[in-house]
Amino acid sequence: MNEKEIMDILERCGAITKGHFEFASGEHGDVYVNKDAVYLHTEELEKLAEEIASKFENKGIHSVAGPAVGGAILANRVAYHLTRMSGHEVFSAYADKDRGKFIIRRGYDKFIDGKKVLIVEDIINTGESAAKTAAAIEKARGIIFAVAALFNRGEMTSIDDIPIKALVNQKLESWKKKDCPLCKKRVPISTDLGHGGK
Ligand SMILES: [Zn+2]
Repeated sequence: MNEKEIMDILERCGAITKGHFEFASGEHGDVYVNKDAVYLHTEELEKLAEEIASKFENKGIHSVAGPAVGGAILANRVAYHLTRMSGHEVFSAYADKDRGKFIIRRGYDKFIDGKKVLIVEDIINTGESAAKTAAAIEKARGIIFAVAALFNRGEMTSIDDIPIKALVNQKLESWKKKDCPLCKKRVPISTDLGHGGK
């Protein structure tokens, strides 16, 4: 699938909505992201997970791990498809939130220690949760292969030297209200999403 086809799926799920929005920060933008919406739609999620898995087939990945909550669901589906594609079991683990960091618990550390691990995240913005997940995996002595994501909305190509591979790479712009090109064109602000209804 190309980026347009991935974007179409994300739009159908409501994870990405185009329009004119006011964000919590007060800034305006033309794309609204609600990453959690993608998890409502299991068939669409499955297609996205399969697409991520196809990029890492034959890379010798032992385990896939995502940050709880969203990344963990996606990681589980990617591990399923990697297992199916590679003919050996690829394990699914996740990192739990723990006092502002992430930690590998639940006995998952045995499936991380000394193993080649693919980190899976849904949408990367600042990369903070992916970086914290990487720290948790390193602490559990995993060997991180890459960070895979649905959407990289920042401009990062790596996190602490770990390459990021996303299905869609697109910087999402936002503007101060006075500089907003959509306000200048008098496009009405969405009252359903964001803070435009308040
Ligand atoms: Zn505006």
